[in-house]
Amino acid sequence: MLDKVLIANRGEIALRILRACKELGIKTVAVHSQADRELMHVRLADEVVCIGPAPSAQSYLHIPALISAAEVTDASAIHPGYGFLSENADFAEQVERSGFRFIGPRAETIRLMGDKVSAIKAMKAAGVPTVPGSNGPLDDDDDANLAAARRIGYPVIIKASSGGGGRGMRVVHTEGYLLSAISITRTEAHSAFGDGTVYMEKFLEKPRHVEVQVLADGQGNAIHLYDRDCSLQRRHQKVLEEAPAPGIDPAAREKVLNACRDACIDINYRGAGTFEFLYEDGEFFFIEMNTRVQVEHPVTEMVTGVDIVKEQLRIASGWPLSITQDDVKLSGHAFECRINAEDARTFMPSPGRVTLYHPPGGLGVRMDSHMYTGYTVPPHYDSLIGKLITWGEDRDIALTRMRNGLDELLVEGIKTNIDLHKDLVRDSYFRQGEVTIHYLEKKLES
Ligand code: ADP
Repeated sequence: MLDKVLIANRGEIALRILRACKELGIKTVAVHSQADRELMHVRLADEVVCIGPAPSAQSYLHIPALISAAEVTDASAIHPGYGFLSENADFAEQVERSGFRFIGPRAETIRLMGDKVSAIKAMKAAGVPTVPGSNGPLDDDDDANLAAARRIGYPVIIKASSGGGGRGMRVVHTEGYLLSAISITRTEAHSAFGDGTVYMEKFLEKPRHVEVQVLADGQGNAIHLYDRDCSLQRRHQKVLEEAPAPGIDPAAREKVLNACRDACIDINYRGAGTFEFLYEDGEFFFIEMNTRVQVEHPVTEMVTGVDIVKEQLRIASGWPLSITQDDVKLSGHAFECRINAEDARTFMPSPGRVTLYHPPGGLGVRMDSHMYTGYTVPPHYDSLIGKLITWGEDRDIALTRMRNGLDELLVEGIKTNIDLHKDLVRDSYFRQGEVTIHYLEKKLES
């Protein structure tokens, strides 16, 4: 087992990783920026290193500072969490070259999946269903691009191969707009991501976002941990998630779960990962793979009983998976509400001092948060301050527990989106399940 892990992240996920390390008897190193001295996991870690000033570029994204922190503390591995450097192949490579284990896939896998054109190609070859599209990058041949769009059928979406965070995409409804859309997206992609490669996909008009969690040990073993529905999104940011995804065609589901597991073996995947799909009219369409632990991983933990972060640590220690597919049993239903320090109406971030924090409790209620009364949310980072997760024997019970939990949750001194969640869990369409990725934005407009 790894001896000492450096946690290259902050906030709730840093605390989540620290808890898993403690359970496995692994020593921990917390790194923090000058704005983050008061973080909960910094108080609890065995060793602490300040890695730089508040701006992420000079701290959590500063690779030399992280590697020297690992050197001075003699850590054996680095856990990147999510966001920051978690999907940066160069970071993974430098970590391993410096003699530390990167807790995640090999750099080449991160690179393969970080480029969407190559990811789609690899997934197609592995038998994962993809969105009908250009099957590769678009070149400058206008006639070929017009013909491709005609073959796919309008509307189509032009996407940047290196895009992320919902940026670098443009929907095209009519042929007259196609060529200019390709050239604008290409120019934007070039300036935003340093790579002007774009590709074309059929634009699905009423899909749900359904994703599959996998674990693989890089030693020939892979399992899936079923699916999650993350359709409630605003500006492509997930707001509320659940597991399993409700109302999915059982045959299509079985097929996609097995395809994801087989694809992991095919690409010799190592670690935890997520295959993201759009699901429409009973069919799954792969859009991208995330090669890291995700914010919403707890809903899967609640319905499978598998501790995903502990599995990541075991895999990074070179151990084979501790469970087989047959050991994974789905039980009940779980929801997660992302609690953000932001104005519930304008969504503007609301940093500041938390004058009162009271987390909810009771059977099936889990609050993953680094907050405490007196904690000051700094203005420099993501506004996520906690995740309320509830489990129940069925969807109704889990949802009732979420309603109760949100009513009990008190965060005072800063603005939060708790009221938005209270509204969502009472929404009659959402309660029925199966809302599309456009539902939340339409609801917010009305
Ligand atoms: P990113 O890496 O920026 O998150 P994704 O490829 O995951 O990009 O797409 C982000 C979101 O854009 C999806 O969740 C979906 O809402 C929308 N989207 C992407 N591709 C399509 C498509 N072919 N049809 C409809 N919506 C799409």
